Amino acid sequence: MEIRRSYRYALRPTGTQQRALVAQLDAHRVLYNSALDHRRTAYRMAGVSITYYDQARELGAIRVGNPQQKACNHSSQQHTLRRLDRSFQAFFRRIKAGQEPGFPRFRGRNRFRTLTFTHGDGATFTETRTSPLRHPFAATVKIQGVGAVPLVYHRRLGEREGGQMADPVRIGTVEIIRTGDHWEAVFSCTLTVPTPKDAYPTLPATGIDVGLEHYASLADGEQVPNPRFLRKSMGEVKRLQRKLDRARKDRAAEKRAAKKRETAVVTARVAGKPIPPTPPVEVWVSTRGKKRPKRTAERRARLLSRAVARRHEKIGNQRAFFQWHLARSLISRFGLIAVEMLKRRNMARRPKKKLDEAKTKDAGQPVYAPNGAAAKSGLNKSIYDAAGGLFVQRLSSKAEEAGCLIVGVRAAGTSQECPRCARKTPKTLDERWHTCPCGCSLPRDVAAAQVIRARGLTSVAVSAA
Ligand SMILES: [Zn+2]
Repeated sequence: MEIRRSYRYALRPTGTQQRALVAQLDAHRVLYNSALDHRRTAYRMAGVSITYYDQARELGAIRVGNPQQKACNHSSQQHTLRRLDRSFQAFFRRIKAGQEPGFPRFRGRNRFRTLTFTHGDGATFTETRTSPLRHPFAATVKIQGVGAVPLVYHRRLGEREGGQMADPVRIGTVEIIRTGDHWEAVFSCTLTVPTPKDAYPTLPATGIDVGLEHYASLADGEQVPNPRFLRKSMGEVKRLQRKLDRARKDRAAEKRAAKKRETAVVTARVAGKPIPPTPPVEVWVSTRGKKRPKRTAERRARLLSRAVARRHEKIGNQRAFFQWHLARSLISRFGLIAVEMLKRRNMARRPKKKLDEAKTKDAGQPVYAPNGAAAKSGLNKSIYDAAGGLFVQRLSSKAEEAGCLIVGVRAAGTSQECPRCARKTPKTLDERWHTCPCGCSLPRDVAAAQVIRARGLTSVAVSAA
């Protein structure tokens, strides 16, 4: 059986290699932005849609005339053009669906972070055996125009849980990603692994309800609490974000003051009056009496925004680790797991703005009625925390090779139904307990998980028959 698996490693480039990587990212960004400009202009001026193939054909000519582009790997440039094409397709798809998407945007330095290569064409992975006992393997990725960059080889490429190696391993693409202030490589691979036996019915079936109060509730009554680290990290992010907002405000004031002074100097010079003195440099004094010039708001804002980005990255990593861990433990215990096919997008979407017509007429400018956006955005955050969609994705990617079956079921009304007698039991969001005239009494989410399990088993029985 073949499975898809990606392996992510931190990179340890030298200073020279980092500069080469940054230069390549820049070249790819220029290519991306000019290809986007090309499409926009053609569409606006002539109503012509330009395809990926049109642009890929022109790439050869662009490379001949442009040393910056010539230095990049040709097929990785095609990957970049394809990425642009994908964002256009997503744009048109959303228009068709009646949404109002933003037009694909030009990418600034901070919005272009990935180089994609076809493995063996511009980027090649090499594993070597080393002598020490503790770390018997090392690896590098050799990138065109950069050289061989060492990986932090914390696990072997192709290694699976339990330490056995898949054989063979085919590497499809290599992505080189700049994340904050370090670099990562992601190898997307196809592994050939022994086909597992079906784990169901040897192992029992369950249903999972991914919720807000608990991270997950299982049909057998077990409830996985929300990880505490998320709340803690969230608090830190909030604190940093507040500081950042303040620094940005100060920065604006700083800019205004500088401008004001500039004007004052110019007017004084024109009028032949004495030039106003430069304000003294503010000094920061530490508790131990050390002195240094006070950081400008500009500098503070930059440091803080970096800190916020790092924090977000950390939350992402913590969440991923938690979810992988939970997925593994579920898969080792159950042979069939039923999950809701969540329409997360709908749940988390911002409520639509509603125009308050009477007030708009009075004020002469658009006034919007309160739509509960603030209250709902708190809820949204919790929903993203639970990140049910991502968890289910991770769960199913692990399940396949273990022979565990993941069944997606209809999500409608799972919390409004009694798992024992299937009677309708309407509840509001605040009602956390399920009680039914039939005598069934359970925590709300456990009841929902049982309904989910029942639906999952029905759909398996139907498709087997
Ligand atoms: Zn009942």
